[in-house]
Parts: sequence; structure tokens; C-alpha cells
Amino acid sequence: MTLQRLRKFTLIIAMLLFPITIWYFSPYLIIMAAARHVINGSFIVFTLMFVFGIFFGRLWCGWFCPTGGMSECFAEFSPKSPKQGWRNYLKYGIWLLWISGIAVCHVFGKGDYTIQPFFMTEHGISVSNIYCYIIYYGIVVLFLIPAIVHGKRANCHYICWMAPFMIFGYKLGRMLRLPQVKIKTKPQNCAGCKSCQKVCPMALDVPALVGRGEINSAECILCGECVAACKTGALQYKITK
Ligand code: SF4
Ligand code: SF4
Repeated sequence: MTLQRLRKFTLIIAMLLFPITIWYFSPYLIIMAAARHVINGSFIVFTLMFVFGIFFGRLWCGWFCPTGGMSECFAEFSPKSPKQGWRNYLKYGIWLLWISGIAVCHVFGKGDYTIQPFFMTEHGISVSNIYCYIIYYGIVVLFLIPAIVHGKRANCHYICWMAPFMIFGYKLGRMLRLPQVKIKTKPQNCAGCKSCQKVCPMALDVPALVGRGEINSAECILCGECVAACKTGALQYKITK
């Protein structure tokens, strides 16, 4: 099995499991839990995303994210490239407001702190009744609308509240010069064919990034599509500091 087949397989599994796992990515449950001084499943997952990001950047987005997988499926219908620029910063604004809300709830919340990974789930399963399906499909549609309107994984660029955890983790790991998984480049091997750009699910201008010695972009999800598409060996996965 090639690396890209394996990646598609993991994304399909993540999508199939999403009705079970969705509450563990919930931006709302973490607020409810904070008000009751509960460390819930999404608190634990978001903390792990930050730690994961230190060493793996946004690899989770490219390999394991259910909504990312859904966006890639829909890219068949809307293959255009989402505009880069100020819209990419929307997710940081959303994240900051949301994190502030969580902090306020912790400050004014009541009760002793408890750890409840399965908070507000039934036997650990998120979508456990008909009403939960309304929320489930609401979130699915929320993520798919930007991808359909603006093109390839626009939701990951513009609105994802989870991406900043990994981006900040990645930047911390980079600052501390810790070993990280990266796409390293050999500009001298680049023939300028732009095959990498065509396949990039994040619609990045990969040939322009090649000249820097590595794909150093907060929007790179380390999916490796560019590595597979490049026939001159100008792009490679590497673990470097
Ligand atoms: S696919 Fe490889 S050779 Fe072609 S533009 Fe990208 S890095 Fe350069
Ligand atoms: S630059 Fe390469 S690894 Fe990064 S998102 Fe694009 S295709 Fe994936």
C-alpha cells in the first residue's frame, strides 16, 4: 500500500467513526464542562493536539481529521483554490474568542475539579439519539459549506478551531529546535512542473515554497500528496530540528 492510499484509508476510518468521536472535538462541550470544573474529553483531545503539533505540526489534519477527509471528498465537486490572505486569520480570531470564553468559565465555574473523558456521552459514544444527529449534521454542513463555496479544504484554512492548537504547537517545537516531521525540499531538483501544486489539498503554492529548503507554512497539513506527485525528488518527508 502506498503512503497516499494509507492516508486515504485513515481518513475514511476517521469519517466513519465521526458519529462516535464528534463530541471529543466539540468546542461547546468544553465550555459546558469548564463551567462545572470538569476536564472533559475535548479538553484532553485539544491538549493532545497541541503536544502532537510540537513534533508533527498539522499532520493530524492531513491524516486523521474526519472533517478534513470530508472536505477532500467534496473537493471533487469544487476543485478551485480558496483565496489565501486575511481569511486564513479568521480561525485565529475564532480560536482566541473561544479560548477566552473557556478561561472565563473556568474562573467563574463551580465545584471541585474532576476528570471526565466521557462527559455528556452515552458509553463514550457521541451521537446516541436522534437529537444528536441534528447537531452532528449541523457541524458537518458548517465544515463543508466553506469547502464547497471557496474550494479545497477552505474550512481548514478559514474556520477550524482545532488547527491553531497544532500550529502553535508546531511553532513552539520549531522555536525550541525539537525534532519535527517536515517536508524538506531540494530546490536544485525542482523542474517547475507544478504537479505538486495541482495535487495539494490545501491549494498551497508549493513550487514557491520549495525555494525555502522546506515547506514552512502554517497551512501545510503534511499530507505528502506533493511528495508523491514530485517525480524529481525535490520533496521528501524528513525528521529534522
Ligand atoms: S512537483 Fe517537484 S519538480 Fe514539479 S514543481 Fe513541484 S517540486 Fe518542482
Ligand atoms: S504542501 Fe504538500 S504536504 Fe503540505 S498540504 Fe500541500 S500537498 Fe500536503
